Amino acid sequence: MIVLTAILVFIVGISIGSFLNVVIWRLHTQEGFLRGRSYCPKCRTTIRAKDLIPLLSYIFLRGRCRDCGKTISWQYPAVELATALAFVGLFLRYSLSEEFIIYCIYTAFLIIVFVFDLKHYLILDRVMLPAAVISFVGGLLIGLGFQRILIGAIIGGGFFMIQFLISRGKWIGGGDIRLGAVIGLMLGWEKLLAALFISYLAGSFFGLGLVASGRKKWQSRLPFGVFLTAGTLIALIWGGDLINWYMDLLGS
Ligand SMILES: [Zn+2]
Repeated sequence: MIVLTAILVFIVGISIGSFLNVVIWRLHTQEGFLRGRSYCPKCRTTIRAKDLIPLLSYIFLRGRCRDCGKTISWQYPAVELATALAFVGLFLRYSLSEEFIIYCIYTAFLIIVFVFDLKHYLILDRVMLPAAVISFVGGLLIGLGFQRILIGAIIGGGFFMIQFLISRGKWIGGGDIRLGAVIGLMLGWEKLLAALFISYLAGSFFGLGLVASGRKKWQSRLPFGVFLTAGTLIALIWGGDLINWYMDLLGS
């Protein structure tokens, strides 16, 4: 039964991932989200219904547009797969609970921010504002408690605000401050600390790797929202276990 449900969650996940690709594209082009059929960004031909199957169409078409033959960005299957895997991860951790549904909604926002920041070095208020409202309401619904959410938002926003002020906006952008506050709302302050720790660890490894391989210089800016959203996703799934593990470590 669990396996069947997990497969169903996976299928829902790739479909929502497919929708997120549309949202990411239309945030960029400033089109409406629900109007009009999807088209090939290169030749602008409307995509046929049979080529709109998430993940499978990309495989069948071998990553090329049926009309113009140009390559389709690997972002499309990657986002579909990542969304599906995250949903399955959340399902295995929380089964079909309120937390599961609300964390899936958070995941959708996180994936949009991740891809958009990676591609455009930008965290949009058009995404952050609804995310803030939904995270606040969601946190109350799953019983995180007003205080924990509020402290999370203050620590998350404040942490980046301080760095923004010290570096006069050189290390991080204003969007990171708003993202910090929103993930504080999503996680509450304890899991937020776990998420920040994971993000910085991942960010340093990647940063050092890129500098070592000569692809980036020390001064280059990394889109930190990418690490922050990935860290938040990990904290949503395993944050509780991480905190318990850390507490045990302190206790022993
Ligand atoms: Zn095309």
